[in-house]
Amino acid sequence: MPLVNMRDMLYHAYDNNYAVGAFDLVNLDFLEAVIDAAEDCRSAVILSIAEPHFAHYDFELFLPALEAAAKRASVPVAIQLDHGSTLQSAVKAINLGCNGVMLDVSNQDFFNNIDKTRATAEMAHGCGVSVVGELGYVAGKEGEGTKQHPGETAFTLPSEAKTYVERTGVDFLAVSIGTVQGRMNGRAKLDYVRLKQLNQSVNIPLVIHGGSGLNEDQFHKLTSNGVAKIDYYTALSDVAAKAMRQRCKENPGGSFTDLKKDVKDAIGREVKRCLHQWGSAGRAAEVLERCEPWLSVEHLIVHNINAHSKQSLDSLISKGKQILAQIPGVREVFTGEAMKENSQHHFCWSVRFTHQAALDSFRKHLGFSAFLKKQLAPNASDFISFDYREKN
Ligand SMILES: [Zn+2]
Repeated sequence: MPLVNMRDMLYHAYDNNYAVGAFDLVNLDFLEAVIDAAEDCRSAVILSIAEPHFAHYDFELFLPALEAAAKRASVPVAIQLDHGSTLQSAVKAINLGCNGVMLDVSNQDFFNNIDKTRATAEMAHGCGVSVVGELGYVAGKEGEGTKQHPGETAFTLPSEAKTYVERTGVDFLAVSIGTVQGRMNGRAKLDYVRLKQLNQSVNIPLVIHGGSGLNEDQFHKLTSNGVAKIDYYTALSDVAAKAMRQRCKENPGGSFTDLKKDVKDAIGREVKRCLHQWGSAGRAAEVLERCEPWLSVEHLIVHNINAHSKQSLDSLISKGKQILAQIPGVREVFTGEAMKENSQHHFCWSVRFTHQAALDSFRKHLGFSAFLKKQLAPNASDFISFDYREKN
């Protein structure tokens, strides 16, 4: 079950001067191609979904597929929300299975960026999830990237970066040093002096967005100066589209499945190229050894109900569920009634959390403890609770 803590994964890369790829996925072809390429190369990988892409697919349907792919992989995998725009979208992504989130409010002023990113980091850390913040602004120049990231690029200032990291508590910092979101016009000129200063001043793994189009030497300079994660999409989209265009030309009357036949292979080749170039290929075993496995936790409450009408029980359940739905890190709530008449405990609540940390935060949650004390406990008897951690 090689779903692992993203923080451990990226610190291995940071300490060993290489970068893990975070590939934005837009359908199952992308997902299968990326995970197969990572397996082939024995590389850690981050399966990524980017909020600006949510217009193209239903991420609530897609995320369970990412999680299933991660769980059956034999290489270390993390799942991240890329370019999340609000605290709420980060909560939703975490509850649906992401164990890394990026809050991208880099288009806002320094202090707004700090406030919003800090709030997201506090929430996410309470769920055991690591957080990427972005300081400076990486704009798009061409195609999809321009629509999603309008305006002018602003380079990250080393003088601001240290304060930003200290005040927000982010685990990783996405920096702007000359890359562009989306497709690039010619070769980007990267500011390595700035990158070196940023790495020295913040001393945490750095993240690059807009890596499509850089060459091997440029990637090498990035990974030798603190870049431990590269978010990558445009080149994958380009090779996929090219494969489809080519197939259309060869077989204009082809069915949909025929026209997309070469897409997966094309993406897979590009991903493998990246994994080799960024130095993560061949290191899966070392990474796995270093990483905490990402295991969910189950909080189970069993009880009986005092002589009460069915109606008040239903309203208790729906009130409790409403409160639980507001708590970050709660992935699923199951309420049940014993199937056997003579069962010792007739009712159960089973609450599944992303991670042990989310259960710890839940215990401090005032809303639910008030509900237990004031509403559930007076109506319940033989009340017992247990906690279980997922077993590999
Ligand atoms: Zn990006």
